[in-house]
Amino acid sequence: MMTRAQTVAVATAVQQCRPEWDHAGIVAALEKASTLGTPAEVAAAAFRLACNLKLRNPGMLAQPGAHWRAPAEGGPTVSVVVTRCPEHPEHPAARCPLCETRGEVDHDAGVAAVREVLAKAPRYEPPAVKAARAAERRGA
Ligand SMILES: [Zn+2]
Repeated sequence: MMTRAQTVAVATAVQQCRPEWDHAGIVAALEKASTLGTPAEVAAAAFRLACNLKLRNPGMLAQPGAHWRAPAEGGPTVSVVVTRCPEHPEHPAARCPLCETRGEVDHDAGVAAVREVLAKAPRYEPPAVKAARAAERRGA
């Protein structure tokens, strides 16, 4: 259980790493998670959560997740590997300007293929609708 002083101090430190996170929100998240580990474990989880730049707030701190697991010895806490273009490693794969100009991926053909498969696929019918139709056929 974290003391109030520990909670505020850790929240302040976490906010130094994620200035866009609201201090009161970090305090609330730490308080909610305070019974899930020692003060050091909760603080470490909060800092690991702060490493996830996709998160807009620390609201999921008390939820299970990778932020509660210590990284393997010597391993990074977050992936710094950007998937590189296999042919032009100086560019990220998703935005390789050299591959884009070659137009090797025909997105319109891909869209057409997906639409064709979807048109042939049986339509999804929610179980409640199926049950209602079956009841109608039985004359219920
Ligand atoms: Zn490329």
